[in-house]
Amino acid sequence: MTEWDTLNRRGLLLGSAGVGLLGLGGCATALAPAPNPVPYAERRPPIMPVHARMDRLFDITVCLRPFRAQGPRLDAEQVGDALVVHNYGHGGSGWSLSWGSGAIAVRKAMAASPAEIAVVGCGALGLTSAILAQEAGAKVTIYAKELLADARSARATGSWTPDSRIALAGAAGPQFGDLWEEMARTSFKRYRRYLGLPGGPVEWTDRYYLSDPTPDTGPHEPPAPEPLDFAAYTDRIRDINPRPETLPAGATPFPTARVRRTSAMQFNIADLGHTLMADFLAAGGRIERREFRSLGDLAGLKQKVVINCPGYGARALCKDETVTPVRGQISWLIPQPEVNYGVFYKGVSMLSRRDGIVVQALWGGDMLGYGDDHEVVDRAEAERAVGILSELYGRMM
Ligand SMILES: Cc1cc2nc3c(=O)[nH]c(=O)nc-3n(C[C@H](O)[C@H](O)[C@H](O)COP(=O)(O)OP(=O)(O)OC[C@H]3O[C@@H](n4cnc5c(N)ncnc54)[C@H](O)[C@@H]3O)c2cc1C
Repeated sequence: MTEWDTLNRRGLLLGSAGVGLLGLGGCATALAPAPNPVPYAERRPPIMPVHARMDRLFDITVCLRPFRAQGPRLDAEQVGDALVVHNYGHGGSGWSLSWGSGAIAVRKAMAASPAEIAVVGCGALGLTSAILAQEAGAKVTIYAKELLADARSARATGSWTPDSRIALAGAAGPQFGDLWEEMARTSFKRYRRYLGLPGGPVEWTDRYYLSDPTPDTGPHEPPAPEPLDFAAYTDRIRDINPRPETLPAGATPFPTARVRRTSAMQFNIADLGHTLMADFLAAGGRIERREFRSLGDLAGLKQKVVINCPGYGARALCKDETVTPVRGQISWLIPQPEVNYGVFYKGVSMLSRRDGIVVQALWGGDMLGYGDDHEVVDRAEAERAVGILSELYGRMM
């Protein structure tokens, strides 16, 4: 088998990258190209390998998803002489749903036509609510213990995952689906404003789902059902999500028998956070570092309408035990700008972001980390996840 055959079989030159021909100069005219399984109109830029090695690991971060079985809290209550509109409990979907959830909270807050609004929290939900409140005409001050770079939101994967651990189907009830859809569609549309900006705060990238058939070892037990009925709503927004497709053998350099691809929005959180902070401040917003001990403290603020976005912090601040921690850990590999896709393989997810290659163990499904509030790094988990990616890319060579 010639080198050309090998490369072409792997899809490196023609399968995923017709552009590779240019680099071959004279060779390209000497060899007749073999038939390619991917129609010309479907070809993509080259799939470059991730250097999945522990010596390229520059950080491991842990955060807690603020999960509520009934879905995010969005009701309003009177605390002393202040109207407090809650906006917390978005599980693994906080970035994805932020604009839609913020729009609902701001609508409730502006019903009293306040000239000034206080926002508690400077994570995904606090910042987006604050910007929306400014756009609605209010003068806004954010009060927060930590600013975005130190908030849990900065430790998220950064993918469009609007129904990831957002609720339990039974506890949320059928009417929550409509609210979720409103939040998802509003957010999706708003994120379009951040596409195509310098720094790439939001981008569309390809995701590859890689699998091999499991060897048949005789009769199997049916897989155990998830102990909790996590709600799934993405079918409701089928029209705005690209359809996943199964790719023909040889269409990509990936070595697995089955390769499925879709495209999704990704949030490059370092840049997105920076953009949101800059927009908020440029519109006259103020930020004050402050920690509140109880909900009653909010009544002491000079603003009499407060949007409360403390994330997992609501457990302590609002004494809200409906907020369940779902631990998640991310291993950060040195950024590789030439890698512009994500992969799911053997229970590991990899997403190449501008601020790092984000590697995450997902084995255990939605129950992974459920009820675990330990924000302590597990290096063995990081090594195993990076090792699985290393095995994948090793096979590709
Ligand atoms: C590993 C992992 C991966 C994830 N990936 C994604 C993803 O790909 N896509 C997605 O959409 N979502 C994802 N999420 C979920 C997302 O990160 C959360 O839903 C989101 O960050 C919640 O944002 P928040 O603003 O409510 O909370 P936080 O980011 O925790 O912000 C809370 C703010 O409130 C402040 N605060 C809290 N208590 C007090 C107090 N008492 N006084 C003053 N200030 C206070 C904090 O300092 C902070 O500023 C992921 C989560 C994890 C853990």
